[in-house]
Amino acid sequence: MCGIIGLVGLEGTRISPTLYDGLLVLQHRGQDAAGILTSTESRVFHRRANGLVRDVFQMKHIELLQGSMGLGHVRYPTAGGSSAAEAQPFYTNSPFGLSIAHNGNLTNSEELINDLHRKDHRRINTDSDSEALLNLLAAELQRVASGRKGISESLDEDTVFQAIERLHERAVGSYSLLAMITGWGLIAVRDIHGIRPLCMGSRYNDGQKEYLFASESVALDVLEFQMERDIEPGEAVIVRSNGKVSSRMCAPAAEHRPCIFEHVYFSRPDSTIDGISVHEARLEMGRVLGQRILEERPDLQIDVVVPVPDSGRIAALELATTLGVQYREGFVKNRYIGRTFIMPGQSVRKDSVRKKLNTISNEFNGKNVLIVDDSIVRGNTSKRIVQMARSAGAEKVFFASCAPPVIHPNVYGIDMPARHEYIAYNRSIDEIRSEIGADWLIYQNLEDLVSACTLGGNQKMTFDCSCFNGEYVAGNIDSAYLEKLESKRKDGSKYRQQAMT
Ligand code: 5GP
Ligand code: MG
Repeated sequence: MCGIIGLVGLEGTRISPTLYDGLLVLQHRGQDAAGILTSTESRVFHRRANGLVRDVFQMKHIELLQGSMGLGHVRYPTAGGSSAAEAQPFYTNSPFGLSIAHNGNLTNSEELINDLHRKDHRRINTDSDSEALLNLLAAELQRVASGRKGISESLDEDTVFQAIERLHERAVGSYSLLAMITGWGLIAVRDIHGIRPLCMGSRYNDGQKEYLFASESVALDVLEFQMERDIEPGEAVIVRSNGKVSSRMCAPAAEHRPCIFEHVYFSRPDSTIDGISVHEARLEMGRVLGQRILEERPDLQIDVVVPVPDSGRIAALELATTLGVQYREGFVKNRYIGRTFIMPGQSVRKDSVRKKLNTISNEFNGKNVLIVDDSIVRGNTSKRIVQMARSAGAEKVFFASCAPPVIHPNVYGIDMPARHEYIAYNRSIDEIRSEIGADWLIYQNLEDLVSACTLGGNQKMTFDCSCFNGEYVAGNIDSAYLEKLESKRKDGSKYRQQAMT
């Protein structure tokens, strides 16, 4: 997963400080690398590197990033590598000085890269599907524009929309995409299923409208832009450098299938995605799970509900209310440990959970505790947490996951380990319970999760739930693809290195 942002500001202003602030707000979507690319009338300015936003940019960098239009990106690597060369935004000078920031994952990038090489004579220098996407857009822009008279004068909206139509025909997978044409304008594109989020906002500056695009609405809030709307699946919106806006549906109608994991874990709770508040969805996840516990196990003597910070909190609170049981913070998280690096000779992940979380024994001692987390992936976190609860004196430890068992890889941009590493892979619920050492374990049903994310059916939406049910909305995923993906997964994978929380 990644975070993207794009801004068309008032002509003559310098927007890099605003992009920087926006990236800080999107930092949760990727901590691996960050970048900003800005444009004046005729030039671009670029800074990107591995690291957190606050480490990548110093004052001098922000000052050098000139222009009233630009893109920003925070990276969370998926199947590709994590070299600095793969930090976005990407830029190519031909044609028109084109740059992109991409969130998502193309599932046909291998074929696409071959095609781009053979048919379009474009060379891709990294493993990144995003570089393939940049070159695809460049090739199609070139093709459409050169089919018209006098390329340099003929770049108009229609040319760009046609190029996007071709891009939709050739790219498969998920892509929320912000592209910029130097001195000309910014283009926002969402794949035909709208798998990853992308929204648009505006504000007035000196009586003129400025436009901001971002992965999540929280960036609009913090930068004081008004939400205009979400970008529709298959749609492209163009904002010219002078503020002129146009949009077009660039693909035949496809079903909107946003990724449900955004609501489970990924997005900030203060974001609204496609009209659905992430916070409300998480409260509802807790409420429906609480109801199921009451129905299925009214005999359980739960003394206290304890969330796994931070991701389990919102649902845990509502779950406790539903059960009529006390909610207590029993784990304290060290908020200054971002990524836990593996020191030589250390026994990897177990210890990293311990370094990140500590228990308050009073909340566990002699009690039957229900621990609530948003999801269980490998189960390392939950296993360690159950042990910690027991060492803190818990009588019984029950565990609730607000999402169903993760048993399929997410191919649309969420970095997940190989299938055999999932704790739920080929295991029954009781085997998982025993593996994590809990006295009782409950997972959310997929049906209930979907109902929670549509706020009890008040919102109409069909989601991509592939990591739970293996149904891949954009198609073309077979076991050969999944095996290749898993073998490509390097030790540098974010999921491997990070202590989950
Ligand atoms: P595991 O079961 O793999 O040990 O870890 C589960 C924890 O990982 C949960 O607390 C959940 O919040 C977190 N988690 C789920 N998906 C992701 C992800 O894509 N990235 C990161 N960093 N953490 C995740
Ligand atoms: Mg968590």
